[in-house]
Formats: sequence, C-alpha cells, structure tokens
Amino acid sequence: MTQDRLRLGLIGYPLEHSFSPRLHLAALRACGLNGEYRLYPIPPGPDRGEKLKELLDSLRRGEVKGLNVTIPLKQEIMPYLDELTPAARAIGAVNTISGGDGLLFGDNTDAPGFLADLRRLEFFREGRPATALILGAGGAARAVVHALHQAGWQVIVAARRVEQARELVDELHAIRFTPVALRDALEAISDWRSALTLIVNTTPLGMPPWMETSPWPEALPFPEGVFVYDLVYNPAQTLFIRRARRAGLKAANGLGMLVEQAALSFERWTGLDAPRAELRNAILEFQG
Ligand code: NAP
Repeated sequence: MTQDRLRLGLIGYPLEHSFSPRLHLAALRACGLNGEYRLYPIPPGPDRGEKLKELLDSLRRGEVKGLNVTIPLKQEIMPYLDELTPAARAIGAVNTISGGDGLLFGDNTDAPGFLADLRRLEFFREGRPATALILGAGGAARAVVHALHQAGWQVIVAARRVEQARELVDELHAIRFTPVALRDALEAISDWRSALTLIVNTTPLGMPPWMETSPWPEALPFPEGVFVYDLVYNPAQTLFIRRARRAGLKAANGLGMLVEQAALSFERWTGLDAPRAELRNAILEFQG
C-alpha cells in the first residue's frame, strides 16, 4: 500500500449488503484517486468497544481518512468523537466521521442528502415550505424531520409507537406534529389531509422480507396531489410507490438520497465534487 492511498470505509454490523463500497469506489475512480473503501464489521461482543477504539485511533492518526457509520453504531459512536456538527447533534446520529490532527469529527449527511434529492427531483423549492407526513420514527426519520424542519416545513410524524414519535418531535423541538398509530389507518390526521404536500416512508416496509407490505393502508385514499417519497430503494418500485403511481401521484424511491449522502461524505473527506451521475450508475448497473 502506498503512502498516499486514500483509506475510507464503513463500520456497523452486518455490512455485506451495503451499497456504500460501490458508491465510494465509483467516486474514487471518477476523481482519479488512488484509494480503497473497506468494510469494517463490528459485531456485538465483549471486544466491540476495543475494536472501535482501535479503528478510530487509526483515523485520529490520519491513516484512515474517513468512515461511514451504519446500523447499529450511528448513536453508539457519538461519545467516542471529539466534535459533532450541529446536524449530527440535533439528529442524535452520526453517519460520517472524518479524522485529522488527533481529532475525530462526526457529521450526518442523511439530512442534507434527503433535501438535496428533493431539489434534484424539482419537488423542493427554497422559501416555499409546506407540510409533510413522515411514516416511522427511527434513525432515518430523525434525519428527515430535522432536514424539513430546518427548511421551515411543518412536520407530522406517524409511527406505530406513539411514544417514539412524540420523543422524536420533542427532541427536535418546535415541530408541529400529530403522532398517530399506523394501525389506526392514519385517519387521525384527517384534519391535515388537505395541507399535506409530501409523504415520506422511513419504515423498512417494502424491502425484503416485507416486499408485499406498504406503510400506507390500501383502504385509505392518498391525499390529492401529494408527492410520495420512499426511503427504501431496493426494490426500486415498492408497493407504496406502485400504489401511489397508480393513484396518479408522483413518487420517488430513496436511491437519490443514498447517492447524495454518499457524495456529501466523500466531499467532506476529499474536498472534491463527487459526480452524482457516476455514483447513481454504479448502483443502477448493479440492480440491472
Ligand atoms: P430504524 O431506526 O430501525 O427505524 C425504523 C422505523 O420503522 C421505526 O419507527 C420502526 O418502529 C418502524 N417500523 C419497523 N417495522 C414496522 C412495521 N412493520 N410497521 C410500522 N412501522 C415499522 O431504521 P432506519 O435506520 O430509520 O431505516 C429505516 C429505513 O430507511 C430502512 O429501510 C433503510 O434502509 C432506509 N434508509 C434509507 C436511506 C437512504 O439513503 N435512502 C437512509 C437511511 C435509511 P419500531 O421502532 O416500533 O420497530
């Protein structure tokens, strides 16, 4: 390995199905950089903390330039870091770590990645905030809620565990919300129906093994003219997206967000523009 080889990677567990290596190798190639993107699985176990520290020390020393973080470490990693961006602090999760001069910096590129994709889809217009309904209240929902709230949107969170939705809303304060249980067929939001312009699925429903499941109940008509965004990107057309399109609505999957969050991480580490089209193609070629 030569000295100037750029070492990047991903920590979490399990990692073997991650699309991140494809995205970052495409970015390295397109930018003409000599580099690698390695998987560093950190399985649960008594030596987990030690493994993490070892890896983070190599980042502090500058031997590894940057790491992405995925489930289940996005929150757990935070106490190990020296500085957090305001976004990572507010969301309470880190997906990107940079190292240098003995310090570790944590960032979250899921939130700006989500907004960037809405802009690419020409759905998001600066200065024209509106009302969104977010389905689910886990880690990805936190990034989406933070992003929309920062952009001035009113956000309603619907999750099967009302307390989880309430917690999310309380922590990311100043958000108008109506926590409702998905099992109640979302009828509780009937007052908001006409105000909604965006519905975002942040639950894993639609991906394997829940491919024949949608977070939106079949019996419930979609609000008119709403834009549907599904964070799930594999399969490309979830049941949620298929039904929305059948109802005449515009709908997009989460591939664009995946590409954007990777591109933003890559840019934090290298200072170079990541070519989105090349990253997107790297995934589309794989998906066939
Ligand atoms: P997470 O932290 O586990 O949160 C998942 C949320 O969905 C929780 O609120 C969970 O509720 C809810 N949920 C799970 N199963 C459900 C069901 N059967 N019915 C109703 N609600 C259910 O996961 P995450 O990290 O937020 O990821 C969620 C999804 O987003 C995954 O599919 C992931 O691949 C995708 N994602 C995509 C991108 C992208 O770039 N496109 C980025 C991040 C995540 P409970 O807590 O009650 O289980």
